[in-house]
Amino acid sequence: MTSGKDQPSTKRGPQGKKNANCSFCRKSYRDVGPLVEGPDDVYICGECIELCQSILDQERRRRGDSKSLFSKVPTPREMVSNLDQYVIGQERAKKTLSVAVHNHYKRLMAGAEGGNDDIEIEKSNVLFVGPTGSGKTLLARTLARYLQVPFAIGDATTLTEAGYVGEDVENLLLKLLHAADFDIEQAQRGILFIDEIDKIGKTSQNVSITRDVSGEGVQQALLKMLEGTVANVPPQGGRKHPEQQYIQVDTSNILFICGGTFVGLEDIVAKRLGKKMIGFGQASGRHIEEERENLLGEATVDDILEFGLIPELVGRLPVLTTLSPLSESDLVRILTEPKNSLIKQYEKLFAMEEASLEFTDGALREIARIAKAKETGARGLRSVVEQVMFDIMYELPEQERGRKYLVTEEIVRGESDLFPADGSAAA
Ligand code: ADP
Repeated sequence: MTSGKDQPSTKRGPQGKKNANCSFCRKSYRDVGPLVEGPDDVYICGECIELCQSILDQERRRRGDSKSLFSKVPTPREMVSNLDQYVIGQERAKKTLSVAVHNHYKRLMAGAEGGNDDIEIEKSNVLFVGPTGSGKTLLARTLARYLQVPFAIGDATTLTEAGYVGEDVENLLLKLLHAADFDIEQAQRGILFIDEIDKIGKTSQNVSITRDVSGEGVQQALLKMLEGTVANVPPQGGRKHPEQQYIQVDTSNILFICGGTFVGLEDIVAKRLGKKMIGFGQASGRHIEEERENLLGEATVDDILEFGLIPELVGRLPVLTTLSPLSESDLVRILTEPKNSLIKQYEKLFAMEEASLEFTDGALREIARIAKAKETGARGLRSVVEQVMFDIMYELPEQERGRKYLVTEEIVRGESDLFPADGSAAA
C-alpha cells in the first residue's frame, strides 16, 4: 500500500480530508485514532467498532446461541473415558461426577431452549470426600478442561465475613471471572471448586480472632452462592469498598464442587453401622486400611451431618461421592500412565537434550513406597522424583548427546548415583 508520511497503512481518515469524524460518535480521528472508511463518506472509529461487537455478542447470547455453550453435552460415559486418560482409579467418583455434570449442563441447555413445562431440574452441586492428594481437584479440573468451561479453585478456610482479615466469598467468583477472561456469561456457567469445606463445620477447631472462618456470615454467603444469587464482585479483588464498581455475577448456573478430607468420618460410619473399629486391633495394617476405605465408601449425608457440616450446606450439595486413598500400585500407575504423567514429562525433558531416560519397575515401586509414607497421596510423588533427578537435571544440558540414563531402585534409595563420574549408570 502506498501511503504518505502522515497516512499510515491502516485505514484512517480519508486522504485529503484531515478533519474526518466517526459517523457514529462524531469524534475526530485526531481523538480516536484511525477510522475505517465506508462508501459515501461514512467512517467508524475503533471504539465504536468494539461497542458494536459487544452489542452483537450480547444479542447473540440473549438468543442462546453463544459461541461456546456446546451443542451437545457429552454423555457421562464420554466424560469418564476422558477422565480415565488423566486420573487413575477413583472409578466411582468419576461416574458420579460425570452424571452430575452431564445433568447440570443438560439443565442449562434446557433453560436456554426455554422448556415450557413447569418441571425445573435442580442444580446438582457435588461434594467430594477423600484424603489429600487423591485426585479431588484433578477430577474437577480435568472435566472442566474437557468441557471447555472456566474453572477456578478456592479454599473455604480463607473465607471470612466481610470486615475481617481474609477473603470475601465473592473473591471466589472473581477467580472464576479471571479464568473466563472476564466474560461474565462464560463465568456464569463455569465450575468452581471449593476445597476444605469440612473446615467450616460447627465443630471446626479453626477459631481465631481475626478469621471468622466458621462464622455465620461466611456460611450464609457461601450458602447463597451455592444456591444461586446475584453477587457483587469487586473487579480488583481484595476488600470491598463502598465506592468501588461491582461486577454482577449470577451464580445459579455455576457448578460448585466442594472437597474435603473429613478426617474421622469413617469412625462415624462405623458407629452407625455398628462396627467396632477396635476389633481391628489384631488385623494387619493393610486390613485396617481396606476396612476404613470400605467404610468411607458407605458414607451418607447423615454421616456428613454428624461430622459437623451444617444441614443447609449439605442440602445444597446433593451429590456425595467418596474417593479412596491411593495404594502403592495406584501411585506407580500415576507415575507412568496419565497423559502428562511425571515420568513422561521427564522423558520429554531428556528427549529435548537428545538423551533418553528409563526407570526400572523397582525404581517406580520405590518412589511410590516413599511417597506413600508421606501420607499426602499422589502429591508426594513429585518431590520424591525431583529429589532423585536433582543432580542429573543440573548436569544434563552439558552432557554429550545420545546417552541413556537408567534409574534403578538403588538410585532412588540414594545408594547409588544416577550420574557417577565414570558414567557407569549411563549405558
Ligand atoms: P486433592 O484430592 O487433595 O484435591 P489433587 O487432585 O490436587 O488432590 O492431587 C494433587 C496431584 O496429585 C494432582 O495434580 C495429580 O498430579 C496427582 N494425583 C492425585 N490423584 C491422582 C489420581 N487419582 N490420578 C492421577 N494423578 C493424581
